[in-house]
Amino acid sequence: MTATATRVLVLNSGSSSLKYQLLDMTDTQSNSGSGAGRLAVGLVERIGEETSRLTHTPLAAGGDKRETEGPIADHEAALKAVGAELAADGLGLDSPELAAIGHRVVHGGLKFTEPTVIDDAVLKEIERLVPVAPLHNPANLTGIRTARALRPDLPQVAVFDTAFHTTMPEHAARYAIDVATADAHRIRRYGFHGTSHAYVSRKTAELLGKDPAEVNVIVLHLGNGASASAVAGGRCVDTSMGLTPLEGLVMGTRSGDIDPAVTFHLKRVAGMSEDEVDVLLNKKSGLVGLCGDNDMREIRRRIDEGDERAALAFDIYIHRLKKYIGAYSAVLGRVDAVAFTAGVGENAAPVREAAVAGLEEMGLAVDASLNAVRSGEPRLISPEYARVAVAVVPTDEELEIAQQTYALVSA
Ligand code: ADP
Repeated sequence: MTATATRVLVLNSGSSSLKYQLLDMTDTQSNSGSGAGRLAVGLVERIGEETSRLTHTPLAAGGDKRETEGPIADHEAALKAVGAELAADGLGLDSPELAAIGHRVVHGGLKFTEPTVIDDAVLKEIERLVPVAPLHNPANLTGIRTARALRPDLPQVAVFDTAFHTTMPEHAARYAIDVATADAHRIRRYGFHGTSHAYVSRKTAELLGKDPAEVNVIVLHLGNGASASAVAGGRCVDTSMGLTPLEGLVMGTRSGDIDPAVTFHLKRVAGMSEDEVDVLLNKKSGLVGLCGDNDMREIRRRIDEGDERAALAFDIYIHRLKKYIGAYSAVLGRVDAVAFTAGVGENAAPVREAAVAGLEEMGLAVDASLNAVRSGEPRLISPEYARVAVAVVPTDEELEIAQQTYALVSA
């Protein structure tokens, strides 16, 4: 890496999408979280279809969002198209200023506890984890292979969603099932959204003016997918997602916690196939299953109009959230802060208010006027007197991936 190489390209490859951000780390280091170092952001959607779309925003050039529609056959074509957009702004992928490419990789199993420079052995290991992450790891691998082919000379770094959770103690990570069966099939709780939980718990400590090692935080990452984590002194000690992202909170389309016997029942009594049960629990449950909508804005609008199904869906969502706040308070013993993040956590004041309502005895409260403030900055929403700080801390997974990548390659 040359001394002038200060840019990191972050790639998040899905099965038919490619999200990217180009960041200048000399800026982001001095403006952590403010996004000042973001040079370009974009997204390729519907890869492999006739109607693929590339949306590119050249932030550094101060230009407007550009949209291109037309067939993009595969991830290689997608990355080349992204490269052409970046080159048009003078930020091409062949630039000597590019220090590394950071890849989001969903499942790192137990092996990857840190961001890792990708070589053939690492690729093989990510491949070995496909059976436990069949939806995500193959897409991540495609992104990595494509980027390596395009810039074989450049360090490529994998940043794993599971890594932050590898500090979970065995008693939190193990399911209470036969040990031999569990070990043979690598069945245990891995947790996801780790990059966000790491970033938000650290930012929350910063907001409190404390060292992360001194504080215990409950992070509530409430997006379309949602997860909670208990972070003690900067280390994750429990998280709500498990072997897969299905466990835990009520989500946009996933059920979260459910009696596993429901699945036998659906097969034996309702005659559903394995795949149908999978689709039901992952795609047709959660808020969408309960009321037909998974967007919290729409649910709140319906509640305001007196819609009872939407109100019940909201109550079920909040009830589960409260149970996790209670459970993780017990796991941590002492809670210094509860931090809300992601689409719902950052924007839905009624969710934050309802989640801590009635928890005053546990030291939790929300100040209505602070909670109503809309802002992209980390902020406290609890009143002065509250023993536990309640915070809204916007997550930034791309910045976290870029920082971890840059730290590794510039070390
Ligand atoms: P993901 O990354 O899991 O797709 P996000 O973190 O982007 O999800 O969150 C998306 C969700 O955030 C939407 O489905 C919607 O429910 C919620 N959301 C976004 N903006 C608002 C808002 N202004 N008010 C309430 N909810 C919002």
